Amino acid sequence: MRVLRGMFTRAVRIRGLFLPDRSKELRQRMNLLAEALKPGRAAVFFDFDNTIATCDVFDDMLLQFGVDESWQGLETKWEKGEIGSRQCLEGQIKCMSVSRERLDKYLSGIKLDPYFKKVLQLLGNYGITPSIVSDNFDYMLNRILKHHGVKGVVVYANHARLSRGRLIPYFPHTDKKCPACAHCKKKNLLLYAGKNSIILYIGDGRSDRCPAKYADVVFAKGYLLNFCKEEKLPYIAFKTLKDVYNCLKKAYCPSRADPCP
Ligand SMILES: [Mg+2]
Ligand SMILES: [Zn+2]
Repeated sequence: MRVLRGMFTRAVRIRGLFLPDRSKELRQRMNLLAEALKPGRAAVFFDFDNTIATCDVFDDMLLQFGVDESWQGLETKWEKGEIGSRQCLEGQIKCMSVSRERLDKYLSGIKLDPYFKKVLQLLGNYGITPSIVSDNFDYMLNRILKHHGVKGVVVYANHARLSRGRLIPYFPHTDKKCPACAHCKKKNLLLYAGKNSIILYIGDGRSDRCPAKYADVVFAKGYLLNFCKEEKLPYIAFKTLKDVYNCLKKAYCPSRADPCP
């Protein structure tokens, strides 16, 4: 069934390729969004770094806590596609040395997009509990979200524990069929979205390429936006979550005569 859904999604996209008018494509996506906001229809997935958080937390941690610069070589190899993100992250996390106290203090200073909570509230009004799918690690995400008092969201991330100043990684969300991913976000998309739900995905980076191919509506910025353009995947461009919030509101109540709840 999931395979069928993937095929169906791709078929819709392929039809979309031949639409000469981008505004027509966008209208279709807005209609799909409006449909997604009906009770029980949508499954919403967010990337974390640079999407919910205003910076790439893991990359910044390498700058803050890296004991040497060997992580840069791994980053370059990953960007060139010479290694997968698991190999990259596993090597990079070992480059860090930090005490729990220092790490927690650092994490308490991470800022979130000010509209994240508003989007959560809006989705909550429609009975939708979104998920975060991240290639970062659960320790970091849970600390940051707790610090900001974020509730009503499910977190899927790689696992890390601190031991004697070192972060020990574990990767519970790999997929043998997708060796490039550490956390195969697509796998969790298809696992946790209902069979007939409309999948919304919001992201910005390389690790979002895999799930973007399987989502019905992709909100994209940064690297992911260029990827969607190059691969002719349908997307809605955004700069901050304020754009996503406004788009969801507009989709649900396109005119003033039909006010939002
Ligand atoms: Mg990101
Ligand atoms: Zn994958």
